[in-house]
Amino acid sequence: MTYQALGINRLSRTNIGWFAILSCCIVVGSVCSVHAQGGAVITPESTELYVDLAKISPGLTAQMPPSDATVLFDGTDLAKWQAMQLRVAGDMPGILKSIADYEPGKVTQPAQWKVADGIMTVEPGTGAIETKRHFGDMQLHLEWNAPVAEEKSGQGYSNSGVFFMGLYEVQILNSYKNTTYNNGQASSVYKQHIPLVNASRAPGQWQSYDIIFMAPRFSEKGSLISPVRLTVFHNGVLVQNNVELLGPTTYIGASHYTPHPEKMPLALQDHGDPVQFRNIWIREL
Ligand code: MG
Repeated sequence: MTYQALGINRLSRTNIGWFAILSCCIVVGSVCSVHAQGGAVITPESTELYVDLAKISPGLTAQMPPSDATVLFDGTDLAKWQAMQLRVAGDMPGILKSIADYEPGKVTQPAQWKVADGIMTVEPGTGAIETKRHFGDMQLHLEWNAPVAEEKSGQGYSNSGVFFMGLYEVQILNSYKNTTYNNGQASSVYKQHIPLVNASRAPGQWQSYDIIFMAPRFSEKGSLISPVRLTVFHNGVLVQNNVELLGPTTYIGASHYTPHPEKMPLALQDHGDPVQFRNIWIREL
């Protein structure tokens, strides 16, 4: 049976359409607005929030720093870096000694790594470097390149690392067709968390880390309130999903927390390999 057979013309059909839409709106609106809890009328607007949200300008790409970022290396120089004060200790007794000796804000030696063509390169043997500024929670973007070195293997193949607060390492290593223990490969939380997948590019290619670091909290008496938490994207792939750290990075033996300042420098490791870095920025959280 057609509309014409029912005697409904084109205009009438349009009116029927509007009537149907209006009816739906009235039904939906009445269901939403008359639902009550404890006598209060709940409307859609009652759960819609407006705040004075800070407006920032994102970078032209996700790799570029947004307007509220602190740029730590833009390819120009190492003005924001110095020689690392904390020692990258191998075990917990060494870390405890290093933290006990740590002097917040101490000016050390200028960073000795090479800068050329917009890239900083580890100068093997000159030691790790750290930011002059101190940080706690942060979002970090960093790009790195593990150079080709076919004579090398395992942990010796283009090793470096990002040390949050100078203590908690996300490993940098060539992990493309290079076997090593999985809790020590690229994007592992060294000796603590294996990455979810191996998202490595071949050595000689630029790779990226985007990391959310949440610093530990200690009580005034020094007991742990909340541990470090890390989320890591390696080349845009989620590889560490809000993992909880056991304590500072150790090479030998178990780790445990020991109190330290709320903010400390971000450090990059000299493991004896000419690993390269570019485009390093953070947002404090
Ligand atoms: Mg390392």
